[in-house]
Amino acid sequence: MSRVLLTLNAGSSSVKFAVFEGDTGSTEPVIFGKIAGIGNAPIFSARDKNGAPLDKGMLETLEVSADHDQVIARLLPWLETHHGQGALAAVGHRVVHGGRDFTAPERISDKVLQKLETLAPLAPLHQPHNIASIRAVANWKPDLPQIACFDTSFHRDQMRPAKRFALPRSLTDEGIIRYGFHGLSYDHIASVLPEHLGKQADARIIIAHLGNGASMCAMKDRKSQATTMGFTALDGLMMGRRCGTLDPGVVLYLMQSKGMQAAEIEKLLYKKSGLLGVSGLTNDMQVLQNSDDPHAKDAIELYCYRAASGLAGLVPSIGGLDAVVFTAGIGENSALVRRQICDQLGWLGVTLDDAANTRNEVVISTAASKVKVLVIPTNEELVVAKACRNFLS
Ligand code: AMP
Repeated sequence: MSRVLLTLNAGSSSVKFAVFEGDTGSTEPVIFGKIAGIGNAPIFSARDKNGAPLDKGMLETLEVSADHDQVIARLLPWLETHHGQGALAAVGHRVVHGGRDFTAPERISDKVLQKLETLAPLAPLHQPHNIASIRAVANWKPDLPQIACFDTSFHRDQMRPAKRFALPRSLTDEGIIRYGFHGLSYDHIASVLPEHLGKQADARIIIAHLGNGASMCAMKDRKSQATTMGFTALDGLMMGRRCGTLDPGVVLYLMQSKGMQAAEIEKLLYKKSGLLGVSGLTNDMQVLQNSDDPHAKDAIELYCYRAASGLAGLVPSIGGLDAVVFTAGIGENSALVRRQICDQLGWLGVTLDDAANTRNEVVISTAASKVKVLVIPTNEELVVAKACRNFLS
C-alpha cells in the first residue's frame, strides 16, 4: 500500500496543512489547506490536487473560541478520511525555534519535546502552537512518527560576527546569540535558485521573505551568511504586528518610566506594533494598500524604508550583491512594496522593470540592472515533506 505524509505549519492564529505522496518525489500535495482565525471563529479551506475545493463543513459544531488543540484534533481524522491515497506514514512539523541543539530535522521524542518547550519563551507567537500540534498528533496516534523541521537550522552556517551580540562573552556562551528564522522558506528558495539563475545561484544573493512575519537572509553558495532576525523572531524588519529592530533603551524606558510589566511589553512589541501599530488600522498589507488613510501610507513607507535598510545592512556579510529574491505573501504579491523597496536600492545597482513588476513576473529587474531581482513563491510545506521522505527512506 502506498504511503502519505502530512505537514503541519502552526502559526499564531492559523494552521496550514498539506498531504504529500510518501513514496514518490512528487512536489504537488494531494490535499492542501488552511484553518485561519483560530481562537476567533476559525475558517477552513482545503483543495485537492486538481484545485477542487473540499468539504467546507469540516469545522461545523466547533466552538468559535476553539483553540489549536481542538482544531487540529478535528482536522486529523478528517484528513485521514479525505486523502484516500494510502496509509499516513509520518507527520512533519514546522517548528520555529530549535535553539543550539537542533540544527537538522529531528524525530520527535518526549526528550525532544521537553527541549522544545524550554525554547517557547523565545518564540511566544509560534513555538507553543507548534508544540500543541505535535501533542495533538501524539494523542491521536501515539506511534505515528513525527519529525520537527526547524526555522533556525538553515542559519547554522552564518558567519561568526553575524551570529553574535556585543554582549559580555558569558551571555554569548549561554546561548544568547542571533539564531535567525524563516529557515524553511530560505531552504526552499535556495533549492530552486539554480532553475532561475543557473551558476549564478551560488553568487551573492539576498532573499526577502515578506509575509506577516518578515526577514531577509544573505546567502553565498546558497548558504546563510547573515539574517535580519536574531535571538527571537522580533528583531530586524518591521512586520505585520511586530516592531522589528528597536533601541533596547525603549524597553528600559517603558519599564522604568512608564511602569510597564514584561507581559505588557511583550504584547506591545509582538502584537500591537508593526503595520498594525503604525497605521492604527490593520496588519494586512493588502488592505493598507487599498486605503486612503494617510496613516496607511505612513505605515507602508516605514515598512519599505526599514526593509531597504535591512537589506543594505546584510550586504557586508556577502561582500556585494548579485540578486534579490522577493517571496511570501507581500513579497510575492505586492508590486507597490517591491517598487518602494527597490527605489531605495538604486545605488546598489538595482533597476526595476515596472511592467514586469506590476505583472508579478519571475524576473522583475531590467536587462541592464546590475542586480537581478526575482519573485519566487516559497513552499515551506515541501521542505518539511522532503525531510519526512528522507526519514522514511
Ligand atoms: P503570509 O504571512 O506570507 O501569508 O503573507 C500575508 C501578507 O501578505 C498580508 O499582509 C497580506 O495582506 C499580504 N498580501 C497577500 N496578497 C497580497 C496582495 N495581492 N497585495 C498586497 N499584499 C498581499
